[in-house]
Amino acid sequence: MNIILLGAPGAGKGTQASKIAQHYGILHISTGDIFRANIKGGTEIGKLAKSYMDAGKLVPDEVTCDIVKDRLTWADVKSGYMLDGFPRNLYQAKELDKFAKIDLCLNIDVDEALLMDRICGRRICACGESYHVSTLNGATTCAKCGKELYQRADDNPETVKTRLDTYKTQTAPLIDYYKAQGKLASVTSGEGSPDEVFEQIVKILGK
Ligand code: AMP
Repeated sequence: MNIILLGAPGAGKGTQASKIAQHYGILHISTGDIFRANIKGGTEIGKLAKSYMDAGKLVPDEVTCDIVKDRLTWADVKSGYMLDGFPRNLYQAKELDKFAKIDLCLNIDVDEALLMDRICGRRICACGESYHVSTLNGATTCAKCGKELYQRADDNPETVKTRLDTYKTQTAPLIDYYKAQGKLASVTSGEGSPDEVFEQIVKILGK
């Protein structure tokens, strides 16, 4: 099964993607993670992506689509995958339709008022775990693997505002795009815990 995870920044896409990957053994492909790995590795793509990411803007479509198109030629995608953070606009969605067969678009719906706090309080670990400062009780290391937690460079109020605007104008229209294709399933994150959201996802994806 090939799935798209849709949702505003801070909706919990990354957290749910890890849970889905663990539970169903399905491959998780995050364009944000790919860009961050390129930035860390000092590649040309990384240098280009950083300037957009730091400003909270989308990396140009051609670059992003090429990366995903290439990634979907790898052998490990054969038994299904989950795209997290792609597509981010209608152009990308239409391009994706040319080189992939998507079965389901899982939309994580969150009250907009919660997003800013969620993102700015987010602390993440290199292992993929994600926390909120309010639940860390001062801890600075990952409860799962012990590594030091850090804050993403683009998780600051100014950049987040741009990212949320970008989501509203460019990404949210994809909800209707996939609804029209009969592929949309929505879960409500609200103030629910990650486990509660995941329960809703399991009801959709099946045991
Ligand atoms: P994310 O980790 O999904 O929140 O993405 C972090 C940043 O990476 C975004 O704010 C964009 O700058 C960039 N990015 C990730 N995915 C895409 C995409 N599909 N198209 C363009 N830019 C992207």
